[in-house]
Amino acid sequence: MAFEVTILGNSSASPTLNRHPSGQYLNICDNHILIDCGEGTQMQLQRYKIKKSKLSHIFISHVHGDHILGLPGLLLSMNLMKHEQPVNVYGPKELFEILDVFFKHSETDFSFPLIYHAVDPNEQTIVLENLYFRVKSFPLYHRVPTIGYLLEERFMLKKLNVDACQKLKVPFTHFNDIKMGKDYITADGKKIKNEELTFPSTRPISYAYCSDTIFDERVIKAIEDADYLYHESTFMHDKLDRAIKTMHTTAKQAGMVAKKANVNQLLIGHFSSRYEDLTPLLEEAKSEFPNTRLALEGSTFILE
Ligand SMILES: [Zn+2]
Ligand SMILES: [Zn+2]
Repeated sequence: MAFEVTILGNSSASPTLNRHPSGQYLNICDNHILIDCGEGTQMQLQRYKIKKSKLSHIFISHVHGDHILGLPGLLLSMNLMKHEQPVNVYGPKELFEILDVFFKHSETDFSFPLIYHAVDPNEQTIVLENLYFRVKSFPLYHRVPTIGYLLEERFMLKKLNVDACQKLKVPFTHFNDIKMGKDYITADGKKIKNEELTFPSTRPISYAYCSDTIFDERVIKAIEDADYLYHESTFMHDKLDRAIKTMHTTAKQAGMVAKKANVNQLLIGHFSSRYEDLTPLLEEAKSEFPNTRLALEGSTFILE
């Protein structure tokens, strides 16, 4: 699949028995990415059979414990596995101060290049761009410096023309190469052009990640016209006072952000542990923006 998001955690503040703090795994065209890494993230990766050894990029929104406490553990486990590939970590500079103290005093020598990328939480910037995807950062408005991320596909997989492939007896083991745009060479050396086996690719998909933040019009501007939006919905709107005080968003406000930003679909998460049943939060967001889904743990969203 070209662009998938798996929810590893959707709880705010403390973990509960059924819900874990923030963490999401993204697969963009075989690039393996983590956004936020709350406590228990590495166990969640195991539970959903995602290999941590594949992770190459980790994006952290801010240094509150529910977004970072799983990160030292995850990196140490990768070290124990004698991981070798570089791991790039993006986040506010305070994150790296915290990690450095921890790794210095635990005398940790990493078996792999651990590369820090400090992101300015006050600026809108492109923090990463490669052949497959681009990541833009933008400011969120919370109690400590907080960064939102907008991930956009760049390299588009072609759509397979299954009928043509069957007719020409193309083995399915070649399907991925063909979707990447390669021609197919038959066993007797005949070349079949890629255009004969595929349909043109669709438009690139974008995914915005907004956690944690108070409702603020500037966020809407930064994520305008994104295809998918993950937005925190810590409280119901009857707790608006509490949301303002703690600089969080209500479910109704998350729906308003999605509507005003003109996104296609909204995923809500980062729920307060006071809500055992999440249906009222979903209903409240839907009252503003009908195409809303709960970011339930273990669910994988295929973005297309
Ligand atoms: Zn949080
Ligand atoms: Zn926070």
